[in-house]
Order: sequence, then structure tokens, then C-alpha cells
Amino acid sequence: MKACVLNKPYDVGMAEMKTPTPGPREVLVRVKATGLCGSDLHAYRGTHKFRIPPIISGHELAGVVEKIGDDVRLLKEGDRVTVEPWTHCGRCEFCIAGRSNLCTDKVAMGTADWSGSFAEYVTAPEEVTYLLPENVPFEAGALIEPLAASMHAVRRAGTRPGERAVVFGAGAIGLSILLLLKACGIVGCIVTDIEDFKLQLAESLGADRTVNTSTGDLSEEISDFTGGRGADVAFVAAGAGRLLQDATLSLKRGGRIAVPAIFDGPLSVDMFPPVFGEHDILGSWSYTKKDFDIVIDLLSSGTVDPLPLVTHRLPLNEAKRAFSIADKRSENAVKMLFLP
Ligand SMILES: [Zn+2]
Ligand SMILES: [Zn+2]
Repeated sequence: MKACVLNKPYDVGMAEMKTPTPGPREVLVRVKATGLCGSDLHAYRGTHKFRIPPIISGHELAGVVEKIGDDVRLLKEGDRVTVEPWTHCGRCEFCIAGRSNLCTDKVAMGTADWSGSFAEYVTAPEEVTYLLPENVPFEAGALIEPLAASMHAVRRAGTRPGERAVVFGAGAIGLSILLLLKACGIVGCIVTDIEDFKLQLAESLGADRTVNTSTGDLSEEISDFTGGRGADVAFVAAGAGRLLQDATLSLKRGGRIAVPAIFDGPLSVDMFPPVFGEHDILGSWSYTKKDFDIVIDLLSSGTVDPLPLVTHRLPLNEAKRAFSIADKRSENAVKMLFLP
């Protein structure tokens, strides 16, 4: 099969590889659409903690079951699927409590232990492979993973109808959070970023207001938007240094902050606002089966349409160009998809 291999940092190229064979309770998936994620970019730059070259990167995908291994019970050849790209042990205290994202013995797709989806084929355990409803196109199927990560953050924050939210960062995760907040009955949402084209996209997806934080006055906008009270909930969806502080300053007393972003280094935060205001600061890591199930339902019911996030559709052999665009921000990109 053809695969896009990240040989070493900043060195990515196509290679002919042996098509993997599905082991017991595994399926072989022919990849139809696969998304380039921020974590692939961290791997490309050589800064990711566990996506370390040489690897086949990629973990956001949809495709068709090509072959099944022994003991596969629920899936068959020809099924349209997406994959939750983590295995978990099923036995530790976290797995038993339904928090498999915190499992102490798990493996991620797109690492040396489990080759990723920037290839014609990828294997996956049956237990983390989900049927894609007929009315959900492959491109939307490849967005289920980032939507599930966003759903997890929305659930971590305990978001309720009638609340007002601020989303910091209008990349794929921030915009996915916006879509899910609208679906949850939030009454108002401000989205911030430093790139205008992303803010325009946020507005077209239903953001009530947007603020370019490099030019606009965020505190004034939030105060105006919330009648001086501050927002109920904030999401830090980009790993930029000041955003957590900005989040603490945007909230009302007793508000919550969910943080699905990854930061490159330590932060310096004035903790007085969150202590004085009793803010809950909630880390949010990946997703669980429940997040996948909810997102698949939201897509198949037509409640959420994530396709406007897709700015690039490329064949896999343009991966080198795609990584370079993402790295240098040389084009307006939110979600880039490869269609192998
Ligand atoms: Zn991802
Ligand atoms: Zn476990």
C-alpha cells in the first residue's frame, strides 16, 4: 500500500509499505478520508510527547472495512466505519468507571506502536471501530474524532442550555466546540482568535460575536455581551500563552473553564481571579465511547454539520505540501483532509 511516512522532523514522504494484516479481533480499514490534526503537526516538528518519527501519522479517519481478523463479531467487510484511535485496557479503575480516556495502559494510533491513517489502509481493534450511518459522508466521518474531543470538553464543562460561553481559539477544536454548544442550546457564544478568516468562519457557523484579540477589546465585548456579569463557561481551545488568563478574566463568579488545548511550555497565570471567583478549571483529554456515540448521533440526525470546517481536500501524495502549509500557516487552513 501507499503510505505517507514521517521519517524525521520536517521530513515527510510517500513510501510503498506492506499492507497490514488484521490480527484477532481487528479489522483492516481502507481509508477514504483522514484529517490532519494539530498533534500531527507537533509530530512533524518533533515536539510531540509520543508521536515520535519515524511513524505513519494520522488518527482522524473514516473508511470501509476491507478485511476482518479472527473473532470479529459485529463488523463485516464493506461496513462504513470510523475509528476511536486509542486502545484501552478495559480493566483499570478508569476504564471500569467509564473514563477510558484516563486509562493507564493505552496505545494511540499514529505512533510507533500503531501505524496511523495517512495510508491506504489501517488496522483497528473492533471494539474501537464504530459504524458510520449511511447518511454521514466519509469526510464528515473523518471529523468525528476532533468533534468527540470537543464534545468531551463541552461535557467536562457541564454546559447547560441558557448559558453564555466564550471559546478561545477558532481552529478545528474551537469551531467544533462552537457547533456543539449551539446544538446544546447555549444562548450566546463569543469566539476569539487572531486570524480574521477563522473568525468569519465562526460567524457563519453561528458565533454571536467574534473578537480578534490582537486588535479588539475582549473584556469590553464580554462585559457588553453578558450585561457586565461575565460568561458562565469558557473553553481554551488553542495552546497560546495568555488564553488561560484571558479565560479567568472572562468568567462570572462560579464559572467554569474547560481546557482541551496542549501548551508548549509552562504558563504564568495570576491565580487571584479564579481563586476569588471560585472558577472550576477542568482539564479535558481526548474522549470516551460516550463522546463518539453522541457525535455520531448528532451528525446522522443532521443536528451538526462539520463540513464547513474543511478548507483543503488533497490526495495523500500532497501530504508534504499540507504539512508545510500547516507549519508555516502559508494558506488559510482550518481542517485539511486527505482523500487517499
Ligand atoms: Zn486529532
Ligand atoms: Zn484501562
